[in-house]
Amino acid sequence: MAAAQEADEGNLPSDKPQQTRDMSDLVTDGKNGKTLTCERCGSKVLLPGLGTYVVKQIFLPHMKMKSENQKPEDGETLTDFWLIQGMYTFENVGFTNTVSGDVKYMICADCEVGPIGWSSLQDKNNFYIAVDRVKHV
Ligand code: ZN
Repeated sequence: MAAAQEADEGNLPSDKPQQTRDMSDLVTDGKNGKTLTCERCGSKVLLPGLGTYVVKQIFLPHMKMKSENQKPEDGETLTDFWLIQGMYTFENVGFTNTVSGDVKYMICADCEVGPIGWSSLQDKNNFYIAVDRVKHV
């Protein structure tokens, strides 16, 4: 009687910040080839050709409505972003109040769902919109 049974440990939570995604449908000459819109209400965020695709690790809280409560540490590290230079490049975007000193999050200007992106007060001209958090139409 030597039948040792090992527990299946294959269900550990995976924590993989590296995403492998095929961006070829979305990127044209390094820029967004499509219009970025709000996933929820369809409000236009950015017109084609104005954002540069960058890979950067940024922590964002989970998406929510502004009225919902959530702990600030509830979130995920995302790696694919559109870099937009200049606040006036956007079609429509809203901002949260400054969070943790020098970070502002972008939200939908119409329905206020977010965060859909991130900016730092240290680097006021650069805005990062998460590829995962907008629709490309
Ligand atoms: Zn919206």
